Amino acid sequence: MIDAAALAEFAEIPAPTGEESARLAWLERRLSAGPGSLTRDAVGNLVWRFGSPRPPALLLMAHVDTVFAGLEKIEISREGDALVGPGIGDNAAAVIAVTSVLEEMPAVPTEIAVVFTVGEEGLGNLRGALHACRELRPELAIAVEGHGLDEVVIEHVGNARARLRVTGPGGHSWSDRGTPSAIHALLEIGSGLAHSGANIGTISGGEAVNAIAAHAELLVERRSLEQPELDAFDEEVRRLRVDEPLSLECEIVGRRPTGRLDPDHRLVQAIVEVRRSLGLPCRFDSGSTDANAAAAFGIPAVSIGCTRGSGMHTRHERIELEPLDLGCRQLRAVIEALAG
Ligand SMILES: [Zn+2]
Repeated sequence: MIDAAALAEFAEIPAPTGEESARLAWLERRLSAGPGSLTRDAVGNLVWRFGSPRPPALLLMAHVDTVFAGLEKIEISREGDALVGPGIGDNAAAVIAVTSVLEEMPAVPTEIAVVFTVGEEGLGNLRGALHACRELRPELAIAVEGHGLDEVVIEHVGNARARLRVTGPGGHSWSDRGTPSAIHALLEIGSGLAHSGANIGTISGGEAVNAIAAHAELLVERRSLEQPELDAFDEEVRRLRVDEPLSLECEIVGRRPTGRLDPDHRLVQAIVEVRRSLGLPCRFDSGSTDANAAAAFGIPAVSIGCTRGSGMHTRHERIELEPLDLGCRQLRAVIEALAG
């Protein structure tokens, strides 16, 4: 069902968050001869629709961006039944699975809409998915991911992210001793945030080992399934202070809404039924995907995967090709059950 060569070709097109255009152009070329109509929306998503101008019964979202900024050349290699290389599963496999399944349906249901989204990873903050859900207002939404065939994600982990920067006068580490250091102040702030459950992902600053640091900055993220915990993090960041002559800038650089779908919901139940018929396990999981964006608008949403693999967000990412067929059959049956 899936052409491994086409999948590798697509995955080799660099698409760091914010620079998805070449991949979308590839998809436009591939899909121009097939069913449906293609448009690019205001934020750069590629929207694929099949007739109905009304809000769709089912929205499928597959993100096209990758976490790999500054990777000029991507090489995907074949190792037995696996494809290996950055972004092969997250999320090239999902994009090609959605594409292949719909191309091969004798008639695509008009009640479905597909959006190939931009800005899913990192500081993209679900820009594409939020816009698509706001514009299309689907009844139900599914974020399709390359990995994770064995679980259904019904809990959508939210996050809040901030960039903190401390600046000060700096100085010579001996002749200016006693002058407050931007790094020392930031370390103190950072340790407080880390103790309350946040993750400091990057930290940098200073000039030299024998200088009092004039600047220091960090990126911090709080993840949670509970909205009050994310709100509390925002509040904690807002309350941070440093003493003069240091100064502190806090910038909230990301916010991913959280949400959770009841396992008894008809969307989950339809998927569970399909999975039973295919012999797939019915395990529920939590994750952070385009489905979070739908949840933010109160749209029932889940995320499902297309195959099995490892090494997400690494250069040695790997997916198995054989289970992709099962992933495509799941996708097709779910479409038929919910929009057919
Ligand atoms: Zn990812």
